[in-house]
Amino acid sequence: MSVKNEPSFRESVDLMFNRAVSLLDLPPGLEEKIRVCNATYTVRFGVRLRGSLQTFTGYRSVHSEHMEPVKGGIRYSMGVNQDEVEALAALMTYKCALVEAPFGGSKGGLCIDPREYEEHELELITRRFAYELAKRDLIHPSQNVPAPDMGTGEREMAWIADQYARMNTTDINAKACVTGKPLNAGGIAGRVEATGRGVQYALQEFFRDARDVEKAGMSGTLDGKAVIVQGLGNVGYHAAKFLVEEDGAKVIGVIERDGAVTNPAGLKIDELHNWILKHGGVKGFPGATYVENGALVLEEECDILIPAALEGVINLTNAAKVKAPLIIEAANGPITAGADDILREKGTVIIPDMYANAGGVTVSYFEWVKNLSHIRFGRMQRRQEEARHQLVVDQLESLSDAMGNAWSPSPDFKQKYLRGAGELELVRSGLDDTMRTAYQSMRELWHEREDVTDLRIAAYLVSIGKVASSYRAKGL
Ligand code: NAD
Repeated sequence: MSVKNEPSFRESVDLMFNRAVSLLDLPPGLEEKIRVCNATYTVRFGVRLRGSLQTFTGYRSVHSEHMEPVKGGIRYSMGVNQDEVEALAALMTYKCALVEAPFGGSKGGLCIDPREYEEHELELITRRFAYELAKRDLIHPSQNVPAPDMGTGEREMAWIADQYARMNTTDINAKACVTGKPLNAGGIAGRVEATGRGVQYALQEFFRDARDVEKAGMSGTLDGKAVIVQGLGNVGYHAAKFLVEEDGAKVIGVIERDGAVTNPAGLKIDELHNWILKHGGVKGFPGATYVENGALVLEEECDILIPAALEGVINLTNAAKVKAPLIIEAANGPITAGADDILREKGTVIIPDMYANAGGVTVSYFEWVKNLSHIRFGRMQRRQEEARHQLVVDQLESLSDAMGNAWSPSPDFKQKYLRGAGELELVRSGLDDTMRTAYQSMRELWHEREDVTDLRIAAYLVSIGKVASSYRAKGL
């Protein structure tokens, strides 16, 4: 989404980068090296569909190769263009550095509205796009590893993995060429929910420190907080679902392509999600008020605003009217650089995209490691862990018997304690740890340095510092 009189998405990312880098003491040459996008490959390819040849335009941009492989999603949308993929690739570089995923930054996109095509047509298009990228090593387990993004999901990733494997029949690590695959095609438990889950963990960590909550002019915990979500797709749906079901938050508004629905008492997320899948939009959802101009709901009173659809939705035209004291950027680039200035001035706290939606790449990292190690997480230790816990429980029970039944654990305790961690538990634990650690590195700067006025600048400082160290280690 490009906004009139505002910098493009890539310029917005550069402006935010410049604001942060001015606080670092980097040699100008290194600063420039980190900022620029290394390369962008544009491909136009034809696919025979419905009796005629159709030409598609796709991109794969590599922002930084300070670590390889480079990593970043593939987006299917009519809005895809070179500026957008380059902005998103740059964000991937900073995101991976911030959460310590050992990758450089990349991003890809295909100019297509996937809703216009049948499944078998999408498969032909995806396989052809994958072929074009793979033959230039722009899909490769050790060089460039895509993942899902807007308009793509497990299905497309499975086609890409299969296409790569057909072209590289002796590559034992072929499955690691792409992440976000279905579980039965080399995926990992918890990848689909990962980005939304990461948004939840980010908010949990924010609310763990009363000083942060106070900076947003709020108090208490996530329990009972009123939330508005834009985009009930993969990221928005999971974030909303977990915040409601596990943290007691209330989603009072959901904005989709065709408008918004609101209900001050809280919307039923699963029912609304099913409604959207069935009817193609939110209109008509029972028990809620429909607002045709959905974007207006971004300006409604709430505690937490979660833009989880696309970039540029909070811009110079509406930033001053946004009332939420806390915004978490689940989407990439939902706030333009100009809007960011206005919101900061107003005291709105923004949890920035490069951190907030890093759950996806974090679990993608786990999936890539799983593919390279050719073994599911937890397979070796789970039963051994259960046996050791059983020993402890047996000892406590016999001690308790000897002391006249002094200890009677609840059945719930025994069930939870005795259960060894499977892949899903381990993935969630690794993700939670990653989100907490990365947030703490930003928080430290935010609280300790006077010139670090917000979490976005803190995120950039942490990540640019890490990228700079990698370049220095290479002798640059
Ligand atoms: P998705 O395609 O699953 O969902 C996007 C949702 O936004 C859809 O429900 C769509 O109908 C809605 N939408 C589209 N245009 C809209 C508009 N103008 N107004 C309101 N709603 C609109 O995509 P996703 O994977 O959930 O990605 C959403 C955002 O999160 C993107 O910015 C993406 O880059 C970012 N992201 C995704 C992942 C991931 O793992 N999928 C990881 C990191 C970041």
